Amino acid sequence: MKAARFLDPHVHMSSRTTDDYQAMAAAGIVAVIEPAFWQGQLRTRVGTFKDYFASLVGWERFRASQFGIRHYCAIGINSKEANNEPLAREVLEILPLYLCKEGVVAVGEIGFDDQTPAEERIYRAQLELAVDAKLPVMVHTPHRDKRRGTSRSMDIALEHGLKPSAVVIDHNNEETVAEVLDRGFWAGFTIYPRTKMDAARMVEIVRKFGKERVIVDSSADWGVSDPLSVVRTAELMREKGIPADVVEAVTYRNAIAAYWLDEAHWLKAAPVDQTKTYGPNTVLRGQEPRIDGAATSTAVLNPTQNRR
Ligand SMILES: [Zn+2]
Repeated sequence: MKAARFLDPHVHMSSRTTDDYQAMAAAGIVAVIEPAFWQGQLRTRVGTFKDYFASLVGWERFRASQFGIRHYCAIGINSKEANNEPLAREVLEILPLYLCKEGVVAVGEIGFDDQTPAEERIYRAQLELAVDAKLPVMVHTPHRDKRRGTSRSMDIALEHGLKPSAVVIDHNNEETVAEVLDRGFWAGFTIYPRTKMDAARMVEIVRKFGKERVIVDSSADWGVSDPLSVVRTAELMREKGIPADVVEAVTYRNAIAAYWLDEAHWLKAAPVDQTKTYGPNTVLRGQEPRIDGAATSTAVLNPTQNRR
């Protein structure tokens, strides 16, 4: 049996360690999408957003490549920080500069937290940016009053002319999944060790709703979370008798389709070569560099290139 491949389409790798990257690659994760998020505390100026976005398309992308993982990102203003509306409006001005960078595959994660009027205005403005940039959208749904927030997120996306097939509604549960799938949107499920969804509940959801437009992710970040939860959920699905093609769809193929990715980007990537540098920096701290094969190209790591 060939080793399974996995894609984690929602994981905040900037908050994770090199051990995580190594464990993820060893478990079969070949690519990740890192959406822009808050950092556990509110930023105070536009410059810190700029540097954060630059690191998502720059250093973090390089760092992932040094462990054999293809890194993509989504750029956007998260719902919590949308509530500082004067600052959020400054960030809106610079977003188009990042949406056209190589490796940026979506606008996200955006949407509602407390479902305030400011959150709605910033969400709407970013949907317009997604339409202009012709990018799909990753929507974060609220943890409180989830059902209403999820419905509103979809209503508003449609009002701005987005097709359901260009919108991933994330952090679903049993309460929201039927409506999201019925309306033709992608349904993401975040598998946390203890809160929100867990792997056992995910097995039941896949049994009931099938594989179409269902996506599993970890949303691992700086909190207690598990960067291997996509892999662990796949293992449990197999144990519980879910067919292999269904497991592959929800932990790999569907995310490729939802975010318009090209599998050749990781299947034909240059071998890992840890002697490479990003600017003056490397991931090395005195250890023997890992070099998997004759390195052929550094072009894929050039941060000034446009798009993917
Ligand atoms: Zn997230």
